[in-house]
Amino acid sequence: ASLENIILSLPIMPMVAGNWKMNGVKANLSEIKKLADLMVKNGESVCDVLICPPFTLVSDMAMTVEGKSILVGAQDCHENISGAHTGDISAAMLKDAGATHIIVGHSERRTDHAESNTIVLEKAKAVLAEGMVAIICVGETKDEREAGKTLDVVLGQLSGSVPQDAMPFTAIIAYEPVWAIGTGLTPTVKDVAEVHAAIRQSLVAHFADIGNGFRILYGGSVKASNAAELMAVDHVNGALVGGASLKAEDFDGIINAYR
Ligand code: PEP
Repeated sequence: ASLENIILSLPIMPMVAGNWKMNGVKANLSEIKKLADLMVKNGESVCDVLICPPFTLVSDMAMTVEGKSILVGAQDCHENISGAHTGDISAAMLKDAGATHIIVGHSERRTDHAESNTIVLEKAKAVLAEGMVAIICVGETKDEREAGKTLDVVLGQLSGSVPQDAMPFTAIIAYEPVWAIGTGLTPTVKDVAEVHAAIRQSLVAHFADIGNGFRILYGGSVKASNAAELMAVDHVNGALVGGASLKAEDFDGIINAYR
């Protein structure tokens, strides 16, 4: 069987991913130990579990999760592998520190650091070149949604930021409406379904059948109380979680959607 056929024959393994953003010092690693204990206590979940702490904790967290069913990632990387880029961190360095996944193009990076699709694409390529998994974020602002431009914006970001050679096991898409991030607001299930279906259709148009294998995460104010409903939407293959990833109980409550 070809690689393509093997990929297509496998069900999509969902992922619950946490983004700690600029939060956490070594003392917070106790939350990861607590999370690992809760995951054992509350039983098997059919999903991958990933936490992306700030750079300073990647190495310590990777050591903390050794032997446990938790993956460690990072929140950004530079597009180059090394060189004169003061203050930047490369995918190779993050891999060396124990990360397996890197988020690129988070809306806070696109806004705070004026990251364009072109930069996000270069970063995603750098992640893939290290044999790591890129979590590529897309999402519309409130103004864009109100102007009826949601699908144009999201599909434009998708085609502009996902590398041509991306594969379902090297790239994950995260749909995060900017207005839903950290606000407690979430789109309706119908709106989530519409965007995720459009992303899937676009992936199939770009990558043919393989497009059906990519994970498409939903992100934006996911919490234990709304996770099951959001995760049940067609073409939602997991969650990218900010605020509710900081506390073990909250995050485990989201993992419950897959128990
Ligand atoms: C995020 O930053 O990716 C996010 C979804 O944040 P929150 O869950 O806090 O809305």
